[in-house]
Amino acid sequence: MSSYVLPARVPSVAVAGEAARFPVRRIYCVGFNYAEHNREMGRAEREPPIFFSKPADAVLADGADLPYPARTANFHYEAELVVAIGRGGAGIPAASARDHVYGYAVGNDYTRRDLQAAAKSAGRPWDTAKGLDHGAGIGAIHAAARIGHPTRAALWLTVNGVERQRGDIADMIWDVPGIIAELSTFFELQPGDLIYTGTPAGVGPVRPGDVVVAGIDGLGTLTHRIVAVPGGQSSEGSSR
Ligand code: MN
Repeated sequence: MSSYVLPARVPSVAVAGEAARFPVRRIYCVGFNYAEHNREMGRAEREPPIFFSKPADAVLADGADLPYPARTANFHYEAELVVAIGRGGAGIPAASARDHVYGYAVGNDYTRRDLQAAAKSAGRPWDTAKGLDHGAGIGAIHAAARIGHPTRAALWLTVNGVERQRGDIADMIWDVPGIIAELSTFFELQPGDLIYTGTPAGVGPVRPGDVVVAGIDGLGTLTHRIVAVPGGQSSEGSSR
């Protein structure tokens, strides 16, 4: 194929215990999927969750540095369970949704919270708040063929060793089969799709120099160091 620019590399995620990687097609995310988090965000507890998306090349592997992004002074972590889709489908029934799951990983849905709040109040899209470069932290994917389909597991996050989030994936408003059933009525899912399933309570800011560790029992941990970018903004929004 001749083309005017080089085609972009296909983003991919490590698979635990395997040399082969998991290529990423799309990243879907669920918002407002834990009642306690809905409360802290000023929403009704049982308000139905929503979907948004991130660019596939925003994936950020375990151990990578995360440049503190420009255009925010309130940059947040969100520890989440990530579902990796191995078999596609549209209108997937919840009863057979697990057959479409390749595996599970720890994720971190990094967010420019100030831009998200402004977008919400103005009724505008969330792309600049959620679709930032490197904003989709994800650890190694654990194949369901090896570990099964977890329905109850502690989900937690620390900043500089201090615990900031602790929940359980059993507390999701939409469980994984419910998410797949609902999402697949909007989009035909394909192998390579990732689904971030929402975060429990305790979201908060990080600053350059912070070390953020997210974990889910049985799925390992996901560590990132937030680094200042020369000429970029610090968490106070000043240039240095
Ligand atoms: Mn989230």
